[in-house]
Amino acid sequence: MSTVLDFQGVGLTYPGSPSVEALQPCDVKIHAGEYVTVIGPSGSGKSTFLNVAGLLDRPTGGRYILNGIDTSELSKTDRASIRAHFIGFVFQEFHLLPHRTAIENVALAQLYTGANRRKRIAAATEMLDRVGLSHRKEALPAKLSGGERQRVAIARALANAPQLLLCDEPTGNLDTATSATVLELLDELHADGLTILLITHDPEVSARGERTLQVRDGVVSWS
Ligand code: ADP
Ligand code: MG
Repeated sequence: MSTVLDFQGVGLTYPGSPSVEALQPCDVKIHAGEYVTVIGPSGSGKSTFLNVAGLLDRPTGGRYILNGIDTSELSKTDRASIRAHFIGFVFQEFHLLPHRTAIENVALAQLYTGANRRKRIAAATEMLDRVGLSHRKEALPAKLSGGERQRVAIARALANAPQLLLCDEPTGNLDTATSATVLELLDELHADGLTILLITHDPEVSARGERTLQVRDGVVSWS
């Protein structure tokens, strides 16, 4: 089984006085096709872990091998390029562009690929179909329910066929029934072979994963 994420002594200390050891050096491997959840109290370091995994933050120690590529010594540009190719992000706050329709939000995520607009719209149509939102393509985010917005955000995250889908509290702003539909969608994507890393502070959500990482005071361990 191929390894998607390989943290070798990866840690992150935010500088300052006092400095914050947000992520203690940890060794973590996540394999292709796994569904891993990350649980822990607020402020424990979950988002830091995910942001390092997503190449948004550079660790202050250790080596991070992503899909066989040692990211430790890469330039900012190379990190951004690898991030765009390999990683999809889903956040609690959706982060959709408010003045763009659902389909434009998804199509814009593929701008960097250089694909022309027609191709991007075709891919975005397919992705919105995949998340069950074909009928809401032309809607602005404000006209969508929270669950629909999150599904658009998932479609956007999938638009570039990522190796790894990173979700930071994706159901944190949703009611229980809506959360269930989003979690079912993630289950389906996992069944289709996608590798998922999902943060939650909800034990019920965390139980959806095949394996669970626990984060406490910056210490990451398999639970
Ligand atoms: P969680 O997602 O589990 O709530 P975070 O990873 O966001 O936790 O934060 C872990 C710790 O790192 C917290 O103590 C937080 O205050 C601190 N932290 C997060 N971001 C920064 C930053 N940019 N600078 C300094 N400290 C930070
Ligand atoms: Mg967080």
